[in-house]
Amino acid sequence: MKPSTHRPTQAVIDLAAIQENIKNFKSFVGGRVKVWAVVKANGYGHGAIRVAQSADNLVSGFCVSNLDEAIELRSHGIVKPILVLSGIEPQDIHIAANLRVAVTVPSLEWLTLVTQNLEGVETAHLQLHIKVDSGMGRIGVTTAAEANVIIRLADEFGMDFDGIFTHFATADEVSQDKFEQQKQRFDVIVAELSRRPRYVHSSNSAAGIWHKETIQDIERLGDALYGLNPSGRTLDMTYEIKSALTLKSELTHIKTIAAGETVGYGGEFVADQATIVGTVPIGYADGWIREMTGFHVLVAGQKCQIIGRISMDQMTIALNDQLPIGTKVTLIGQDGDETITVDDVAAHRGTINYEVVCLLSDRIKRTYING
Ligand SMILES: *Cc1c(COP(=O)(O)O)cnc(C)c1O
Repeated sequence: MKPSTHRPTQAVIDLAAIQENIKNFKSFVGGRVKVWAVVKANGYGHGAIRVAQSADNLVSGFCVSNLDEAIELRSHGIVKPILVLSGIEPQDIHIAANLRVAVTVPSLEWLTLVTQNLEGVETAHLQLHIKVDSGMGRIGVTTAAEANVIIRLADEFGMDFDGIFTHFATADEVSQDKFEQQKQRFDVIVAELSRRPRYVHSSNSAAGIWHKETIQDIERLGDALYGLNPSGRTLDMTYEIKSALTLKSELTHIKTIAAGETVGYGGEFVADQATIVGTVPIGYADGWIREMTGFHVLVAGQKCQIIGRISMDQMTIALNDQLPIGTKVTLIGQDGDETITVDDVAAHRGTINYEVVCLLSDRIKRTYING
């Protein structure tokens, strides 16, 4: 889908904020740590290409979720290392080799399937990062024995054993028990490897922020890169971040309805007095989901409640004043003394900031500033 450019709804991405967030992280953790920017899911909704291009000088590599996301980066001039974090299809292995994209080995079974798909593949270009399941419970090996068989198989076929990594499930929580247990399990497996690869890594944003002494060769920096606190409001940040995304639109229609009239599907909002209603061109097809009813937006520096059900393409708000068409509406960001953060939206929905930004659909135009 093409972004809709002929309507005022847009996400504005501050690329300087992203650069500052990386710089601040690096000065917080110190110079030895290599930062790999996590730009999966279209850069957490911010736009993978523009984010990667503006982070390129400040990071040592990139992480994406799948092969298509890696292809997108390679075809837009990103030449630094890229790691595909989720498994790829064994028959696609030639694509990874051709693009020099490192792949995750989730199991011995998977690598065995890969060895049946190596015709014409330059195996020396195949960089492997073995995934260790230390407690997340999704993909990865759970014993050093399996990892060592993988290393043997990789050697046999001339592949490059480039890394081993794990992923924490609770690094953003107050209790550290599970984190410590996962770290311990990972350390034991790494210690029992037949040899150490180039990169041993485990830290996501939360581990980097609240357990920086545990960062190994690479920090996989996701949420915090975009200026979001991975714990939401649970833990305080340990260095300065700035949220890079604002979401804006404009009033496309204003009218006053009488007491007793209704707004939106189902007629659920019933005016109890004469009400000035403004219409904003954003809806659930943009990722501004139906749960947003009852929340608010900012108009002329004031909070205005979202009333009626959110439609696919439009929503309605209660205005304090009769305002002209084209008046700015801030859904995420600052207007005057008021601010709506991604975490405010997440709290209203009972979810995490990650989901709010990732759900902003392709229909929303992204505008880049300070790039
Ligand atoms: C998404 C992801 C990250 C980044 O996580 P953040 O919490 O956004 O920093 C790191 N590692 C893996 C394996 C991931 O899937």
